[in-house]
Amino acid sequence: MDCRRIEKLLDSYLDRELDRDSAITVKRHLQVCGECSRTLDARSSMSSSIKRRATYYPAPAELANRIRTQVPHAAAYRADKTRQPRFRLPAWSRWFQLGGAVAAAVVVTTIATMQLTSMPEDQRIAEQVLSGHSRSLLTSHQIDVASSDQHTVKPWLSSKLDFSPTVTDLTTSGFPLRGGRLDYVDNRPVAVLVYGHRQHVIDLFIWPDEAVSDASRTRVFSKRGLNLRHWAVAGMTYWAVSDINTADLEAFAEHYASAR
Ligand SMILES: [Zn+2]
Repeated sequence: MDCRRIEKLLDSYLDRELDRDSAITVKRHLQVCGECSRTLDARSSMSSSIKRRATYYPAPAELANRIRTQVPHAAAYRADKTRQPRFRLPAWSRWFQLGGAVAAAVVVTTIATMQLTSMPEDQRIAEQVLSGHSRSLLTSHQIDVASSDQHTVKPWLSSKLDFSPTVTDLTTSGFPLRGGRLDYVDNRPVAVLVYGHRQHVIDLFIWPDEAVSDASRTRVFSKRGLNLRHWAVAGMTYWAVSDINTADLEAFAEHYASAR
């Protein structure tokens, strides 16, 4: 048997995974071949030094379970191996097995990381606006300054913020102004104008954002039974959120924009 073939069997030989005949063949070759003996010594000392010096972290049971469910063939494969203890396993196949487990772990980790880091900017803001809206309904803290008078709401908000939002009563268009409140979105305090539409509530979140250009920004989102509409005008960014349908929300946005 030539050295190239022997070399491929060395790892299995080292791990005592070869069938008896192959093991004898390798052993005989090693007795007469200095080069293969040195290769074996090098691999043997590498594996023992890894065992000696490597830091071991026990995998949490939950991670192990997740990997098991994602590698359904692993169990069957193991069972198969036990039934045939003399099954000759080429060295690469063990790496392949290990590769499967590592790949599954990487997939799990990558999905979790992607959800946190590469959520598009709009989606991230939409989530915060949605949370602000839901929080105000849950805590019954919808309005800090209750008034249908834009000349009361605007100065109140301006005194609390470093900008002055456009406040317009839209009663004649079917969207009466109920008041305003403060919230915190995208790491800054923002204005929220609260409008009514029949028995529904529309929150309009407003804050300055020079980075968004007017034309490129009209987005509609539907999340958890609520509709969101986002647009930008003259350095200000607007997010309307409500449980009214998208057509009514669109109409609201148009009335607000044309009244300013
Ligand atoms: Zn050799």
